[in-house]
Amino acid sequence: MTNLSTIAGIKAFGPSGLERLISELGEPRYRAHQIVRWLYGKGAGSWDEMTDVPASLRQRLSDRYTLPVPTLLDRQVSAVDGTRKYLWGLGDGATVESVGLPTPERLTVCFSTQAGCGMGCSFCATGAGGLKRNLAVGEIVDQVRLVGEDFGSRVSNAVAMGQGEPFANYDAVMGALRLMNSPDGLGIGARHLTVSTCGLVPGIQRLSGEPEQFTLAISLHSAVQETRDELMPGVKASDLHQLRAAIVDYTAATGRRVSLEYALMAGVTDTPKQIDSLRNFARGLLCHVNLIPLNPVAHSRHSPASTKRAAEIVRLLDKSGTEATIRTERGADIDAACGQLSQKHVGN
Ligand code: SAH
Ligand code: SF4
Repeated sequence: MTNLSTIAGIKAFGPSGLERLISELGEPRYRAHQIVRWLYGKGAGSWDEMTDVPASLRQRLSDRYTLPVPTLLDRQVSAVDGTRKYLWGLGDGATVESVGLPTPERLTVCFSTQAGCGMGCSFCATGAGGLKRNLAVGEIVDQVRLVGEDFGSRVSNAVAMGQGEPFANYDAVMGALRLMNSPDGLGIGARHLTVSTCGLVPGIQRLSGEPEQFTLAISLHSAVQETRDELMPGVKASDLHQLRAAIVDYTAATGRRVSLEYALMAGVTDTPKQIDSLRNFARGLLCHVNLIPLNPVAHSRHSPASTKRAAEIVRLLDKSGTEATIRTERGADIDAACGQLSQKHVGN
């Protein structure tokens, strides 16, 4: 966080960091809530707007911290389903993408937690470019807030399924989720906030101990160790035994169900052997399997499984007592689906 405060200014602070900062300045704690309301509830772009914060405090804060707001560099709207994809520019020139997925009842925002990603998954467009840097707390919250503003409606759900591995940037992501959840911030229900991880066990263990009921999704993609290691080289240190045990412990501690994300890649993750292993992995877990039709990514050797095979897999999982659904594709015409956020249209 310290290094990021030069780039992100006040946006480097989560709710507890802001409270600490305010108390160090000898101010009452409620000032921190006011500032959160201005920054995230109202989206203030300058210290001057914070009219109920004393001018002297505003001055001291502005002497120390900048108040950057992401710049919209590009926005694409799907003609098919109204999905919108955004490219944001951050203080140091880093760029990240977010997606807004509207339905009549909901507005879901898919946000990024890192610029790039260091996990190197072979099927993912973000993974191919490597990690640029972690995002600061406010850089994460701002994406969700700004997408809501663009739609002119309340964001009902937000998912950390954009660029980056949330548990590789745990503290900032947790601070951001708390600000999204806070009535001073975006006021989104904790259960409607989802963090998706490639399966970093220490992160799952930490999340088990958090008081909020955030939702957890785990990108499994293969329950065969060798295949998973090939597809997801960055997560080798957390093997499938440890991962399954962490899920069991998570459910015991929280009583909550996890989603297992499983991208169907023809001949790689949809074979009888793979599906047997998936059924064994999921059997007895409090989980829901989300079968994702693979989004083909440039230069990737993987191709999607057939829809017929996907339907068969749902039936096979059902037979072994595991609930599964096939995720519907959104924003296909603007490459807004999972794993396709790669900023290719700006040439990096
Ligand atoms: N790093 C986290 C969250 C961001 S990726 C994670 O891996 O869970 C969001 C989701 O998109 C993950 O489930 C990821 O596995 C999936 N994904 C990545 N590339 C994909 C692709 N080409 N097709 C379908 N899903 C993909
Ligand atoms: Fe990173 Fe997730 Fe993509 Fe893997 S799938 S490279 S963990 S963003």
